[in-house]
Amino acid sequence: MTLGYKKQKILKGIAASPGIAIGRAYHMERKKMKIVHQYLIDISQIPTEMERFKEAVANSEEQLLKIKKQMPDEIKSHSYIIDGQLLILKDKMIFNRTLKTIEEEQINAEWALKKSVNNVKQVFEKIDDEYIRSRISDIEYATERVLWNLAGKRFQSIADINEPVIVVAHDLTPADATQMEVSKVMGFITEIGGRTSHTAIMARSLEIPAVVGVESATQDLTNGNMVIIDGEAGLVILDPDDETLTDYYTKQGEYRVYRDQALKYSYLPAETVDHTRIKIYANIEFIDEAASVLNHGAEGIGLYRTEFLYLNRKERPSEELLFTNYRDVVKIMHPHPVTIRTLDMGCDKFTTSEMVQEINPALGLRSIRLCLRHEDVFKTQLRAILRASAYGNVRIMFPMISGLSELMEVKNILRKIQEELESEDIPFDKGLKIGAMIEVPSAVVLADVLAKEVDFFSIGTNDLIQYTLAIDRVNEHVAHMYEPLHPAILRMVKRVVEAGHGAGIEVAMCGEMAGEPAYVPILLGLGLDELSMNAFCIPKVKRMMRSTSVKESKEFLDKLLSLTEVSQIKEFVRYEVSRRFPEDFPSKDNVLPD
Ligand code: PEP
Ligand code: MG
Repeated sequence: MTLGYKKQKILKGIAASPGIAIGRAYHMERKKMKIVHQYLIDISQIPTEMERFKEAVANSEEQLLKIKKQMPDEIKSHSYIIDGQLLILKDKMIFNRTLKTIEEEQINAEWALKKSVNNVKQVFEKIDDEYIRSRISDIEYATERVLWNLAGKRFQSIADINEPVIVVAHDLTPADATQMEVSKVMGFITEIGGRTSHTAIMARSLEIPAVVGVESATQDLTNGNMVIIDGEAGLVILDPDDETLTDYYTKQGEYRVYRDQALKYSYLPAETVDHTRIKIYANIEFIDEAASVLNHGAEGIGLYRTEFLYLNRKERPSEELLFTNYRDVVKIMHPHPVTIRTLDMGCDKFTTSEMVQEINPALGLRSIRLCLRHEDVFKTQLRAILRASAYGNVRIMFPMISGLSELMEVKNILRKIQEELESEDIPFDKGLKIGAMIEVPSAVVLADVLAKEVDFFSIGTNDLIQYTLAIDRVNEHVAHMYEPLHPAILRMVKRVVEAGHGAGIEVAMCGEMAGEPAYVPILLGLGLDELSMNAFCIPKVKRMMRSTSVKESKEFLDKLLSLTEVSQIKEFVRYEVSRRFPEDFPSKDNVLPD
């Protein structure tokens, strides 16, 4: 470790979101409540036990209503999450059934509740519909709250936090992240997760410093004690002494000054000194982000992840709801393009309990495969996207394409929907551009074939790295092997760019690799036409691009591609970046992310 803070305990994790946060640790209990108490009760205790259960439910309702009321305006649109929990608490199969079981079987409330919930879960599990089955997690979430109340403990939610703290949890789901308020959550530390997990991606969008994959965080960090998060170095410093604190307050100030300075570059084009202009777009997850990405200098949206309208709700979102959302994003961004990616549901976008029951979910029924299995869900989304295209500049993009027949099947469905809309006289953009995400190795190999069928490619490096190097992107045990600079990855990206350009289409990159400032010379050398990234990275990336040339970057890339060891490649990148961009990277040691 390069830091000299010897006496304090320093935990090393994965740098998930940059920035420095200094504050008190706040433990979020995210582990499941284990029912230790399962006991028979005396007939005379039945009324009291029933009352105890009713009271726990009433307390749970009260807590949920309070959370709903306190929801800040920006996230009010997510209040359906709470409504869903409230409905479950009142559900006859859970509420009445539990009371009846207490009475008939003379067992304690926790046990009776667990029995009712298990019955409901069994019914759900039999339903041949992944979406409905995945709703089991809502039931579990609501039950968990009642169990905590029965135990006389408080069930914690991010929305309960009412003073600025640093959240420490075993895990935080994307749904937790939707409830984070920047003024209350100064930063967070989790025991599991990787740099490209969706919670980490959202932390970067919200500009909340975060370190994930800190294995013993919930044990090592005492509630209420001071802690520092260094989101750039992936460090967590426990109980810092005065000297460390002063140092870090200074660093925090410097970081803010640097960020504000870089912001000045946000409105300038990313044009290199030898006059090549790269399109710099942003990735978003929520409509609320659209205005802010414009402020950071995004010239369009290169990836609108559309999963969140499908999460945490009782029913599938209607065509109208999707259409309104897409149309509004398109209007905010007008005349800039908005690339709407079709539903990429699966594996890491669910919480563990919601996961489709598959041994290998990342290799399972996810993304475009899930859409082709549930054509009705897919068609509803396509109709909504096409309708929104009448209001501005829309592109549509399909994730996880693995081969030609899959792409043709998707295009066929899209064509049918276009015909349907035409016959209904519903306007849409007839020249709508379609793109394929290149994130599966087979698509790289077939890039020349696929390029003939689409208007653009967008390389999804988060998954491409996962599938190429066989590294689960959300598994902290192999996170250190997740390597964008792996020679195989660099060669694959080069191959895709060449295949795309050979067929006369543009090639974008929208994985996290696109927004990593240290990779700017590589990305320029590779000849990518568009980079779509977390808006937060835009100013720095633009500033770096404006100070360098494509010519020099190509020469650098050629040399880099002749190296075959990751360690040599990293060393060369460190050297080159600190030489070419001394202002952005004053020290060679801090060039590359973990
Ligand atoms: C990717 O895989 O690089 C990507 C951009 O998609 P996601 O992170 O949503 O899987
Ligand atoms: Mg992906």
